[in-house]
Amino acid sequence: MSRHSICIPLLLSVLTLHTACTPSAPPPPTQPVPDIQPSPTQPMPDIRPSLTQPVPDVRPSPAQPTPDIRPSPPQSVPDIRPSPAQSPADIRLHYLGHSSFILGFDNGVTILTDYGKSRAYGLASPIYALKYFQPTLVTYSHHHEDHDRGAAFANATKLDGQDLSLKQIDIKAIPVSENREGDNYGYLITYKGYTLFHAGDSQGDIVNLSTSTQVQQRLKRQLPAKIDLLLVPIDWTKNIVAQAIEYVNFLQPRQVIPIHYWSPAIKSEFLTKLGGQPYKIVEVDGPQYGIVVSESTTFANTVISLTPDAYEK
Ligand SMILES: [Zn+2]
Repeated sequence: MSRHSICIPLLLSVLTLHTACTPSAPPPPTQPVPDIQPSPTQPMPDIRPSLTQPVPDVRPSPAQPTPDIRPSPPQSVPDIRPSPAQSPADIRLHYLGHSSFILGFDNGVTILTDYGKSRAYGLASPIYALKYFQPTLVTYSHHHEDHDRGAAFANATKLDGQDLSLKQIDIKAIPVSENREGDNYGYLITYKGYTLFHAGDSQGDIVNLSTSTQVQQRLKRQLPAKIDLLLVPIDWTKNIVAQAIEYVNFLQPRQVIPIHYWSPAIKSEFLTKLGGQPYKIVEVDGPQYGIVVSESTTFANTVISLTPDAYEK
């Protein structure tokens, strides 16, 4: 038996952006996944040396449909998953802005998520441009311009609603809803027992969760009982902060990073309200967040505020 998880924030501070709203567009065409090319991605700038010990993950698995929303916020409890001797996972997140991250894994794989247009729709949500960086994988939740700027990444494998396993990283596309049922995808990414969920544009699920047993049951069915890190959209064509917090409480992730917002006020509101619950606020004065998951790491419920910035200066 052992404990799992966590992280090392970098610095503290808050981020500022501006006003909000997302137009909608037709659902994306799906493309087949090209075959994997162990692409010569440039390493993340600061990946810590990885540790080595074999370790299986034996988490009890999911998730029976439960109709009712869990009434109370998650407790700050240590993680006591029975986790055998698996080598620690070392994952580094770099927040480019909006819904776009570079996820760097200690096995050399890099994943670029939702590399959308900066300040899409004329709104103040920057996504910093990449210069030379070539990811191994690129994921698209859908193809609205705030999630896809049309960059080619010729050497990368693109995931547009497909699943993929690569070098111990299991990626599962999860249909989620913004304007219509299943009109885009979140991605559930599991590596050495650590589970991260990028929720894509789940705003429809978020606003309907409290009144729709269908949404509740679907989420219970699709997602594991325990999510280590949730990347959750908190802004839409209207203020959805309260509903985003209900969504967090429903999924009960260990850690939360708010994404997809167009206003500093929205982010502050989310941090304040969620931070008032068992989630402790960690404000990072920068774009990066490192996660080391080992047998001995303990876990606290935290909401992490990152400051987006360029990956290559
Ligand atoms: Zn969006």
